[in-house]
Amino acid sequence: MTKRILIRLTLTIALVGPAACGNEEPRTRGAPTPASPAARAPEKHAPDGVTPGSHEDWCEEHQVPESMCTRCNPSLIPAFKATGDWCEEHGLPESQCRACNPDLRIERPAKTGG
Ligand SMILES: [Zn+2]
Ligand SMILES: [Zn+2]
Repeated sequence: MTKRILIRLTLTIALVGPAACGNEEPRTRGAPTPASPAARAPEKHAPDGVTPGSHEDWCEEHQVPESMCTRCNPSLIPAFKATGDWCEEHGLPESQCRACNPDLRIERPAKTGG
């Protein structure tokens, strides 16, 4: 009698893969905000040293000569008040007050030279 003992060694190789470490998907937080430089100076106002009454002497924002724009240059106000050219109601030179003078037209001086 032969006793055959078959010993089968079953080697179970457990392939342990690399543990999934917490891989987070790169996500952008918040909405992309467009860059808005605060120090942005559009050429709406005349540069310093411009000749009063010239084409360049013009306040695009207020549609008056820059050299006479009391809103840009409050230091001009006393001069207007001194000459009586002042609208207290609207805080403007009467000669620039379109509220009191709807027909008021202040035209920009034509470009000269060149
Ligand atoms: Zn102005
Ligand atoms: Zn007025």
